[in-house]
Amino acid sequence: MSDPASLAAISSTLELVNKSVDLVRNLRKKGDDELNAAEMRNTLIDLLDDLVEVKSEFISLKAVLLNKEEEIQSLKAKLEGKNKPIFDGNIYWLEGDETPFCTKCYEKNSLVFHLSVAKANPSWGTSEHWYCRNCEASYYPK
Ligand SMILES: [Zn+2]
Repeated sequence: MSDPASLAAISSTLELVNKSVDLVRNLRKKGDDELNAAEMRNTLIDLLDDLVEVKSEFISLKAVLLNKEEEIQSLKAKLEGKNKPIFDGNIYWLEGDETPFCTKCYEKNSLVFHLSVAKANPSWGTSEHWYCRNCEASYYPK
C-alpha cells in the first residue's frame, strides 16, 4: 500500500470511529424513556457494522505499518553499508568518493585517511601512485 492509500485508510477509519461515537452519544442523549426497543436494536446493529469495519481497517493498517518497519530496517542496513569503506584488494574506497583510503591506517587504527597522488619520479624509479601522508605507505595500481 502506498503512502496516500494508507493515509486515506487512516482517515476513513477515523471517520468511522467518529460516526460510531456520535451514534452512542445520540443514544445517551435520548434517554431510556424515549428510546424504544426497535430504535435501540437498529442503532446497535449500525454500531456493530461500523465496529467490524473499523476492526478490519485496523488489521490492514497493522500490515501497512509492519511493511513500513521492514522497509525502514532494510534502508537503514543499506545506509550503514554505504558508509563502510570497501576493500578492492589494495586500498579502501567509499561509495561516491573518488579518493581512496589508506589500507594500513584503516586496518590498524580504523582511521579513514585519504590518500594523495604521488607523481612519477624516474630518478627514484617510481610510477604515479597513491601515497599516505599519515603513515607514508605507497599503493601502486595493480
Ligand atoms: Zn596510512
